[in-house]
Amino acid sequence: MDCIFCKIANKELPGKFLYEDENIFVIQDIKPLAPLHLLAIPKKHIESIDHLTEEDKDLVGSVIMVAQKVAREQGIDQTGYQLIFNVGKGGGQVVPHLHLHLLGGWKNN
Ligand code: 5GP
Ligand code: ZN
Repeated sequence: MDCIFCKIANKELPGKFLYEDENIFVIQDIKPLAPLHLLAIPKKHIESIDHLTEEDKDLVGSVIMVAQKVAREQGIDQTGYQLIFNVGKGGGQVVPHLHLHLLGGWKNN
């Protein structure tokens, strides 16, 4: 499948993994919009939040828990952060493989 995030998941394209388990990985966004801008991505190809089914419930819950864990490891839990799912082209989604943006690290907090 011609999907950037599937290829990074399968190590066909490079990506520095800040976290990886059987189902999820975390990488730095290539064009950061905050001092810290990470993407928490399920390895399973799901197009967007709008394409979730009941069977994906635990996986998406785990994506959020991984974001919490990495935010703590990166030391931005005290200053606060944003978690964003863009959904569909009209919602700003460019890569059609579900991912959770983790943004933080602003100095004025
Ligand atoms: P979206 O707009 O789909 O919610 O977000 C996609 C994000 O993926 C963008 O912030 C973009 O900078 C990032 N991105 C696109 N291609 C790559 C890539 O090859 N590697 C990494 N690390 N990030 C990417
Ligand atoms: Zn994919």
